[in-house]
Amino acid sequence: MISEEEGRRRVLQSIDLLGERTVPLSSALGSFSAREVVARLPLPTFDNSAMDGYAVVASSSTKGARLKVIGEQPAGIDRELRISHGEAVRIFTGAPIPAGADAVVMQEDTTREGDEIVVNVEVDPGEFVRRRGCDLTEGQKILARGEPLQPTMIALLASQGFTDVTIGGEVNVAIVSTGDEVVMPGKKLDQGQIYDSNAILLQVLVQRCGASVTSAEHCPDQRERLIEAIQRGIKSDILVITGGVSVGEHDLVQATLRSLGAKIDIWRVAIKPGKPFLFGQVNTCAVFGLPGNPVSAFVTFLQFVRPAILKMMGANNLDLPKTPVRLAVDLANEGDRTHYMRGRIDNGTFVPIGRQESHALFGLSQSNALVRVAVGESLEAGAIVEVHTWD
Ligand code: AMP
Ligand code: MG
Repeated sequence: MISEEEGRRRVLQSIDLLGERTVPLSSALGSFSAREVVARLPLPTFDNSAMDGYAVVASSSTKGARLKVIGEQPAGIDRELRISHGEAVRIFTGAPIPAGADAVVMQEDTTREGDEIVVNVEVDPGEFVRRRGCDLTEGQKILARGEPLQPTMIALLASQGFTDVTIGGEVNVAIVSTGDEVVMPGKKLDQGQIYDSNAILLQVLVQRCGASVTSAEHCPDQRERLIEAIQRGIKSDILVITGGVSVGEHDLVQATLRSLGAKIDIWRVAIKPGKPFLFGQVNTCAVFGLPGNPVSAFVTFLQFVRPAILKMMGANNLDLPKTPVRLAVDLANEGDRTHYMRGRIDNGTFVPIGRQESHALFGLSQSNALVRVAVGESLEAGAIVEVHTWD
């Protein structure tokens, strides 16, 4: 049995990035930039008005001043107007500031009288003027290689005039759930059978990583059927199998993989839940064998499969989000495996929730964080610790 850290290191060591591709911005959400990007336009791109009002020379716009309106500057066209002391230009939000003007007075702070305005406030230089480049300068780095493409980053790229972006390759994942007792939801449940919750769990977890699910099928504990399912699955970049990776007579996954020429790099990791975790390679496909117990499947997915998918996609941060919390209770790990306990963060406090057993799916469904308790570690109630989240 190897440590969790060693397991993760070995998994990531054998995962390669896929080739990059260029996609429209509208298809980029959730992927990772394959290039560093620098600004080719400053933001704002030109000095412009932050308000509907009048462009003025601040020094001639004291309270009570009367200014002559010499023209109108709408947004979308530069009329190349110029003003001097005692003059104003009618201006609208986003319109270029006329030459000579150094401030905008809001419409609400003026009184219009024919072709003149009376200024009803003191106007400071720079007021309501958005200066060229004050937000972003030309040549400034805006996107790092491996950085996630979030909605606001996609908007920033559009502001630069880009229509598309170069991202990491599309990662295809096949899922196979095994077990004679496991029945797909929608079918009739006989005595001794359970519904398959892992296939859908893994499917949505893969999707949340930004990868594509090529297939999610169920396979009974029969060698021939498993061979067929694995042969279909290894056409994808990653194959995730759940159940059947342990030591029982019906746990056929490891032997079947070996018979297909798989190189098994890992079997059993010191992690609780999730000890009978398997990782190997068949041809170019990375194969993960996750335990059938739902909580074990969830934890091992987050700790091993998720970082592998993200690495393949070209992400630079493979870690789960972490957040500091105050522990509500004492927690200790007297076992020989790293323990991930399920809990709920409420108002900054982490409270363990549900049965801390690997089959307890209800408790898991009520949790929103995992606390990692290392072997031999004792954590006291009130202590501030960092927990892993996934939402
Ligand atoms: P296994 O890893 O095959 O020994 O299964 C361990 C436990 O997980 C058993 O109680 C199984 O019934 C359960 N299990 C296996 N596969 C699934 C699945 N796809 N959905 C829900 N529970 C499962
Ligand atoms: Mg089984």
